[in-house]
Amino acid sequence: MIFETVTVGMYGANCYIVGSEETKEAAIIDPGAEFNRIDKKIKSMGLTPQIIILTHYHGDHIGAVEDFVEKYGTKVYIHEEDAEALGNSAMNFTKSMFGKDMSIKADVKLKDGDKINLGELTFEIIHTPGHTKGGICIKVGNIMMTGDTLFNSSIGRTDFPGGSFEEIISSIKNKIFKYDDETIIYPGHMSPSTIKNEKKFNPFL
Ligand SMILES: [Zn+2]
Ligand SMILES: [Zn+2]
Repeated sequence: MIFETVTVGMYGANCYIVGSEETKEAAIIDPGAEFNRIDKKIKSMGLTPQIIILTHYHGDHIGAVEDFVEKYGTKVYIHEEDAEALGNSAMNFTKSMFGKDMSIKADVKLKDGDKINLGELTFEIIHTPGHTKGGICIKVGNIMMTGDTLFNSSIGRTDFPGGSFEEIISSIKNKIFKYDDETIIYPGHMSPSTIKNEKKFNPFL
């Protein structure tokens, strides 16, 4: 597995590039802004963008999606319960964040437990509502990208439409924490952690 982080935009969102060693195809997780920087990084890694998987529909995680779709025909994957908001520029905050209407079409609507294959890699979709209704975590190998559900020593906001404090706590405890303690957490903002550290030190849990 080839793996890189690019932190983008004024909200400091983490975009993750996950590449197959075999096919040199890349999955882009949350291309939130700064298309040119992400594109350059992918090229420098010798990869070709194949799919985009979004942890949720919020503007700070989707700002560069249109550019990738236009340039590479990249397919867009999002949980079925976040697909409608992704396609509505008022709901996905792109209008307020970028002053630009971005109505993004989901090519594939995901469900809990879905698996996506890319070369030798398998991405496992874990539905973790609470920050948004259709928020997901994406596990590949021993790493898990947790979007705005679980951060290093914090959790995502629950005051946006579709948010729920009870649900986010339940998602983290029942769906994320059942994985191996050594699993490395790569969140939507800020630095990585491990499931072990979050069980021990996260003050919200
Ligand atoms: Zn968010
Ligand atoms: Zn965010």
